[in-house]
Amino acid sequence: MKRVGIIGGGQLAWMMGDAAKKLGVELVVQTPSQDDPAVSIAQETIFAPVDDASATEILATKCDVITFENEFVNLDALSLLAQKGVCFRPRLEALSPLLDKYHQRCYLRDLGLPVPQFFALDELEHLKSKMRYQSFPIVLKSRRHGYDGQGTFIIPDLATLEEKANESVTNKTFSQPLFLLEEFVPFERELAVIAARSVDGEIVSYPVVETQQEQQVCRRVIAPAQITPNQAAEIKAIAHTLLNSLQVVGVFGIELFLTADGKVLVNEIAPRTHNSGHFSLDACETSQFEQHLRAVCGFSLGNPALQCTSAVMVNLLGYENSQSDYQSKRQQLAKIPQAHVHWYGKTESRPGRKLGHVTVLLDNQHRDRLSAIAHTIESIWYPS
Ligand code: ADP
Repeated sequence: MKRVGIIGGGQLAWMMGDAAKKLGVELVVQTPSQDDPAVSIAQETIFAPVDDASATEILATKCDVITFENEFVNLDALSLLAQKGVCFRPRLEALSPLLDKYHQRCYLRDLGLPVPQFFALDELEHLKSKMRYQSFPIVLKSRRHGYDGQGTFIIPDLATLEEKANESVTNKTFSQPLFLLEEFVPFERELAVIAARSVDGEIVSYPVVETQQEQQVCRRVIAPAQITPNQAAEIKAIAHTLLNSLQVVGVFGIELFLTADGKVLVNEIAPRTHNSGHFSLDACETSQFEQHLRAVCGFSLGNPALQCTSAVMVNLLGYENSQSDYQSKRQQLAKIPQAHVHWYGKTESRPGRKLGHVTVLLDNQHRDRLSAIAHTIESIWYPS
């Protein structure tokens, strides 16, 4: 029996529950609140924020290996634990170049991987003077702690840039007023791939998917993406280069842009399981969650192939402040043929919060049907 510690107890940890049972693995979770989704599937929970390294020290006494569902940790404090022999998978060195978006871009560029043009900006004044030479729109990103589009701003002109930068400097949500500025990529589509690397260095990757964002938050994922075999091979090669270079053990998600002239650029690396891989729970022989546990436990990797022709995954995002469990909407969603509804059991809904997702499997790939199904799900879920 293996005991795996997970830093973070959100839906990504919760979705490891069934895989853990299947593999005979016990999960111990470090998460701040009794209401967090993974508390219900954990053998034991340590109630503490994810960046509380003294809690992680206690977590380490209870398990064989520690992994992450949330990367907003205190790496310096965790490295002291690693020096004392605590086993982190992926290792901390695989996370350290990635947690700051500017460092991440530099790391990818230095590996020779294609990324958008970017530069760092530490001070507002510097930023303003630099902007006079740039064309708009441009993308301003908080270097740390961005997720679901929080901290990513598409800036149409200099006035908005000044306004945003001022706001961000004074706004307490930005503990460090450090930005990354990058070219706006007029992408044709956004793509993503989930890849896993085992202790022995074996790598598998899932089919490349198309992700559709609204207001910078993922709304839909279509598997597989309709791309050329060359593009798929290029993306697979990017995943191999990255996972090998970082000597990753576990699952990583890679988000990409595909431009109108067929160029692939890496947007962002998630050093963990990722929303773009949720379809794998129902559509693949081995889900990304099982794959991650297999990798971090030192087991051989499973088959990532699709077991159906195609699948569409739609996020159920909160659209109001409420404590409803939306039971009747969930029942309606479950009636859609080949639909699998996953509800994360969060006790409070807020606009934009990820409350669950639905995956629908299709035997015959038909683009029109995928969009129509996504539309049906959204018209049941969102009030008109
Ligand atoms: P987060 O870490 O919050 O997910 P991302 O960097 O992935 O932030 O950005 C969220 C979304 O914003 C992307 O999925 C994309 O739609 C849009 N976006 C981000 N960077 C760019 C860019 N350079 N050009 C165009 N759109 C972008």
